[in-house]
Amino acid sequence: MTHGHEDHTGAIHHLLEQIDAPVYATALTRGLLEIKLSRNGLINRVQLNTVQAGGMADIGPFRVEFFHVCHSIPDGVGLGITTPVGLLVHSGDYKFDHTPVDYWPTDYAKLAEFSARGVLALLSDSTNADRPGWTPSERVIEPAFDEVFRTAKGRIIVASFASLISRMQQVANAAANHGRKLAFVGTSMVENARIARKLGYLDMPDDLVVPIEQALRMRPRELALMSTGTQGEPTSIMGRLSTGTNRQFDIEVGDTVILSSHPIPGNEESVYRTINRLFRRGANVIYEKIAPVHVSGHASQEEMKLLMHLVKPKFFIPIHGELRHLHQHASLAHQVGIPPENVAVIENGMVVELDCDGSMKMGERIPGGYVFVDGSSVGEVGPAVMREREILANDGFVLVNLTLDRRSCRLLEEPEIITRGFVYEPDAEELLTDTRRIVTESVNCVSNGRLQGDLEQAVKSYLYTKTKRRPMVFVTLNQLGQ
Ligand SMILES: [Zn+2]
Ligand SMILES: [Zn+2]
Repeated sequence: MTHGHEDHTGAIHHLLEQIDAPVYATALTRGLLEIKLSRNGLINRVQLNTVQAGGMADIGPFRVEFFHVCHSIPDGVGLGITTPVGLLVHSGDYKFDHTPVDYWPTDYAKLAEFSARGVLALLSDSTNADRPGWTPSERVIEPAFDEVFRTAKGRIIVASFASLISRMQQVANAAANHGRKLAFVGTSMVENARIARKLGYLDMPDDLVVPIEQALRMRPRELALMSTGTQGEPTSIMGRLSTGTNRQFDIEVGDTVILSSHPIPGNEESVYRTINRLFRRGANVIYEKIAPVHVSGHASQEEMKLLMHLVKPKFFIPIHGELRHLHQHASLAHQVGIPPENVAVIENGMVVELDCDGSMKMGERIPGGYVFVDGSSVGEVGPAVMREREILANDGFVLVNLTLDRRSCRLLEEPEIITRGFVYEPDAEELLTDTRRIVTESVNCVSNGRLQGDLEQAVKSYLYTKTKRRPMVFVTLNQLGQ
């Protein structure tokens, strides 16, 4: 595990339920993993090994060297993997921050040393491949935090990710500098902060941090809270605060909320809805577009090019990003002189074969894809079920109930049509009357075993032409008579 972020560790217990393999991680990453594994009852069944940046481990036919990289969490590493066919370098999630929060910059010397040995392939983080320039240091957010902590009259609530440990340190510093106590809110925030402090990755005075119960009895201007829920998730603490449904406390007029995060693509709408609601409840909300209260933990284009120059790989494989990021990263590789035929843009499940003769080619594709975790069930719900849920959520359903004569298959009553989540029935009388007419005509001209399927299709396409929506359509038959 290169570091402790949720997008890297979140599925660990599902993976280890299926694969019995030792896990290697640095101390902080291991601590965060232990929290997850204990929660899922796996802690005693998994072999965890602590490694250090600068250290190495022989794992099967590979020698793996761990080197420190800066990111938005301490103790992140990249990997130098010596294989029988050559040396591979895996960047992990990284940025080239010269003034990181924990004063521990990326290990440039190690990268240069790899390059001196000769690197067969570089696998590198593509998250920000479409961002020109250089990602600012984590420190640039400190003046913005300072300003907010200096001027806020009431409570300050900082929302971020529970695994953004560096941000916890920055909030703690700001709170200490401005005479506020700090309380972490929510299980994952509290537990991650506890383990990071215990292992020495968070440096804060003991009397700075107070339990939430105590915090809520303090004067508002003496208090800062830190919670999760930056993505507009309705059941998160920020989501509940925005709708007035949080159990322990509410937003009060005069609160200042800082969203120290960037909306994950696709979440923008729910994030901005949450921000609007927080304003409506009387909070002042400060987010990325208002003040520099967040900075990315990933390298931008100039850092990506520098990494390629430092490592000088023969082959280049962009990783960690959407396909568009991988392509952009590949084009940066071309710009710095790596020939296009030496760059492999691949998606999950595609195999790259590196051979002793120094060649790279595409292997067979391995079946892969998303595994849905639905409450406690894993993999039982597939894409088809997800698709049905999506249809129901978007366009609702239409139920057509027919009462037929068993022998003649003729209608005995008007078709009954019930809709839910599709149209407001009193306003759609004409549409439903026409649907009823179409059903009646169809029933009277077909009377074979395909009646239900054909009718469902007919109703679906009629409703689509009329409304441009695709509700789920069910036809049920009541057959009466002998
Ligand atoms: Zn990360
Ligand atoms: Zn990541």
